[in-house]
Amino acid sequence: ELEVRLPVRSHDEVGSLSGAINDLAMELKRYRDTRSEFFANVSHELRTPVTYLKGYANVLANGLVDHEEEKQQYLHIIADEAHRLTVIINDLFELAKMEEGKITFHLESVDVRRAIEKSVNKVRIKAEQKGLQLVSALETIPRCLVDPVRLEQVLLNLLDNAIRYTREGTIKLALQQENGFGVIMISDSGSGIPPDELPYIFERFYRVEKSRSRELGGTGLGLAIVQKLVQLQGGTIEVESAMGQGTVFRLSFPLA
Ligand code: ADP
Repeated sequence: ELEVRLPVRSHDEVGSLSGAINDLAMELKRYRDTRSEFFANVSHELRTPVTYLKGYANVLANGLVDHEEEKQQYLHIIADEAHRLTVIINDLFELAKMEEGKITFHLESVDVRRAIEKSVNKVRIKAEQKGLQLVSALETIPRCLVDPVRLEQVLLNLLDNAIRYTREGTIKLALQQENGFGVIMISDSGSGIPPDELPYIFERFYRVEKSRSRELGGTGLGLAIVQKLVQLQGGTIEVESAMGQGTVFRLSFPLA
């Protein structure tokens, strides 16, 4: 059993060896706990949409719905939940591949300013439909060493979150150069994240408001994937947030 601890009585070699074994046991236990928590989360997250699918499909199959309008409504729910299942499964698959080192990154020298502009253009309509302003303050900096496809995935994910979790105001993008790194900042004027929850938002399935995130189409896997993608490209990601004021995600990537 991993709970078994060896007594450490001396500071000699045996002592330090048993110390090391204790550390390893603790580490394994932590690993086992987070793994079973992860599997519990996965089954919960998969079961929820399946419950909806079964429920609404049964109601329709048993001819319990007379009104055409109501039927349509249920069919839409079924389509949405099926889509949701696909998204969760794809995200899980992507995370698993990254964790096993099975995703290859094609690092090249990339004009990050242009990459940001491209991503911003892709989400512009979504932001405008919500009445949000998108503003950029992008300096011209030397090229960075990144995988352009993965960088776009990261940017779109963070922009999508910024739009989803902001009711009104502005989403700002900034780019600057700092000590050999290209630094990208994505700031929003959204609800902000409570300080005690901030350390957990990169964890798989962690969501500040479960029901609200689900309503907005979230799976709770986005930031876990983003963090992995950034780190595997040799970059870093940090977050700062103030309740009622908004959130800033700060990415840095090495210059090429
Ligand atoms: P989700 O799919 O739920 O959006 P993410 O992994 O992308 O999952 O984010 C985890 C949680 O962090 C979200 O559920 C949300 O509560 C919080 N969050 C992420 N981005 C923001 C943001 N820009 N503003 C406020 N909260 C955010």
